[in-house]
Amino acid sequence: MELIINQLSKTYANGVKALNEVSLTIPQGMFGLLGPNGAGKSTLMRTIATLQDADSGSISLDGIDVLKEKQAVRERLGYLPQDFGLYPRINAETMLDHIAQMKGIGNKAERKEVVASLLQKVNLFKDRKKGLGTYSGGMRQRFGIAQALVGNPSLIIVDEPTAGLDPSERNRFYNLLSEIGENTIVILSTHIVEDVNTLCSNMAIICMGEVLMQGKPKDGLEMVKGKIFQKSIDKSDLDTYRKEYQVISTKLISGRLSLRIESEGNPGNGFEAAPADLEDVYFSFISKKVDPITI
Ligand code: ADP
Repeated sequence: MELIINQLSKTYANGVKALNEVSLTIPQGMFGLLGPNGAGKSTLMRTIATLQDADSGSISLDGIDVLKEKQAVRERLGYLPQDFGLYPRINAETMLDHIAQMKGIGNKAERKEVVASLLQKVNLFKDRKKGLGTYSGGMRQRFGIAQALVGNPSLIIVDEPTAGLDPSERNRFYNLLSEIGENTIVILSTHIVEDVNTLCSNMAIICMGEVLMQGKPKDGLEMVKGKIFQKSIDKSDLDTYRKEYQVISTKLISGRLSLRIESEGNPGNGFEAAPADLEDVYFSFISKKVDPITI
């Protein structure tokens, strides 16, 4: 199974070009779509999820024309959108039962079984009678995964799922995502590099509607290996360094800036070689499109 996106473009009515000839091949397993806010990730996710149209280009899911055969896609799709509204007074069990009914599971006994097994899977069984409005952020996201898994989808889209989760909730969510079957395509859209590092076997980096890189995280690491150097500098010297070096990221540590640059060889001047990580890969690509930001 494969999702093939070919030269997909979308310009909104206000003139913003959210997708500019995006082409991606997404195999089975966990695929990380990484990009800063405004990169076009949600636009792409919503288009794949058949919730909005593109201006041009095509998307194919195992031979299904996603832009035209919307119903066929919806039958195979599980979607956890970025902002997903919950009815606060309805409990998880009732809500999942309702969703299962909408997804065509007509038999009540079968539905009960499906709902119970999903609630177990996302570790919400004991909280199944509580109103969704009482759930913590992590519980909401786990419920979101449960509703996306109703009907055994072969394509699962999760848009910015870990934003706002505390570290332990995030870990639990990671474990849950990594358990989702290997014979499905899971697209995880995020601006958090750690999400992709932890979970994804394949990835792409997008920025300003364009694909800057696609491949395996280790392919990305290969590209910057031996080229990352770091130095701790005074905040006020940043502009000077920016003029002279390819600054990819800066991190504020105890009032000083830890500067990371990309360079073919050691530039001297107090810079030290640093082992490259996926964050360097990400910032290496992004910094060539937009000004580096302090993280
Ligand atoms: P991301 O999910 O990566 O943050 P989006 O797909 O939400 O990116 O947005 C991409 C660009 O399109 C942004 O500049 C955003 O402001 C713009 N955009 C998104 N949705 C709309 C819309 N409905 N109308 C106009 N502009 C939009």
